[in-house]
Amino acid sequence: MKKVWSTFITLVILVVASSWFVSGLWSRKEEKLVLPQQLVFTPGESLDTFMAGNMIPDAVMAKVLGKTAVADKGVPLASLLANPPLSSAELQTKLLKAAALASEDAGKDWQKILPKFALWAIFLFVSFRALTQGRFNRKTRKGYYLGAVVLFGVAFGSDPSPMGTVKDAIVLLAREGVVFPPRLIALTVFLLTVVLANKAICAWGCQLGVLQDLVFRLNRNQADTKGILKQYKVPFVISNGVRVVFFLAFTAVAIVVGMDFIESVDPFKTFNPTHLGLTGAIAAGSLLVASLFIYRPWCHFFCPFGLVSWLLERFSLNKIRVDENVCTLCGSCERACPSDVMGAILHKKKVIPDCFSCGTCTEVCPTKAISFGRKQP
Ligand code: SF4
Ligand code: SF4
Repeated sequence: MKKVWSTFITLVILVVASSWFVSGLWSRKEEKLVLPQQLVFTPGESLDTFMAGNMIPDAVMAKVLGKTAVADKGVPLASLLANPPLSSAELQTKLLKAAALASEDAGKDWQKILPKFALWAIFLFVSFRALTQGRFNRKTRKGYYLGAVVLFGVAFGSDPSPMGTVKDAIVLLAREGVVFPPRLIALTVFLLTVVLANKAICAWGCQLGVLQDLVFRLNRNQADTKGILKQYKVPFVISNGVRVVFFLAFTAVAIVVGMDFIESVDPFKTFNPTHLGLTGAIAAGSLLVASLFIYRPWCHFFCPFGLVSWLLERFSLNKIRVDENVCTLCGSCERACPSDVMGAILHKKKVIPDCFSCGTCTEVCPTKAISFGRKQP
């Protein structure tokens, strides 16, 4: 029991301290481009005066009126709006949308994002092979989680993340009425991995997901089948109910008030501790303590990507499968599975909870009836 707590505390301190150090090494790209919500128009003014008065950068104006208009800014604004006709209200809407997209782009560190996606692809491929070949066991599993925490969390930080693609897309659409194309591409890629290999990105790539999984396994016996301190399997109907309500509330608040209420308690910021704040630190700390006793609490109770990917899981080509001709219904896998999912699969329930492809069930099955892969013809 003492060992569980001391290992947990050591791990959390090491993750936070090394993330704090590494995040200081990356270039800081947080430029926010905020235009006044109500632009000021003065009769007879030139484009130059209008842009200066409203702090509109050339690049944003060029997106709306074209590069040639911005090349000669001495022209009266009214003449530019006459052909093709554009009212000042329409111009304002277009400028605010263009500014929102430019702001998103300015805040992205592409030198970090592109290598992270490349490493995700390699890491997911390697773990997928290991899973389909049944090579995961209690030691390699923990090693993979630790490697993914270090690589995708400590080294590459809190952003991008699978959750961010859903959360930030909802907020930007609700607030500004625009979709940031690179985020849409990232979300599509993540969802494709769900269709190809269940929740592969959650299982082995999401920085917060793997940290929660690693913490959970610190509180397991040597065989990785049971908690040392008592662990709880919350019925899926409860955890998923909370997750659906949380998702709807988050979306409604984003639409009505334009607010992102996850931001101040976002546990992904564990990997970017200078942005945590007191509320965030309490929330992230509580979540990590809860992860010792409940399997992946953020994923099951709150994560917007967790919910969306769960809906898609039923269409996954590769997933956990049980060979009924070999299975003796001994229940070993159901007991060892960290959540309710193996029980639901075994008892052919209509609603199957999220499976995080951990491979514990395949490892403990005495008759080797369980495998991860495509459905056999
Ligand atoms: S469900 Fe969990 S693993 Fe998946 S994106 Fe959300 S936090 Fe990460
Ligand atoms: S069914 Fe349970 S034990 Fe098996 S891979 Fe899924 S989450 Fe892990």
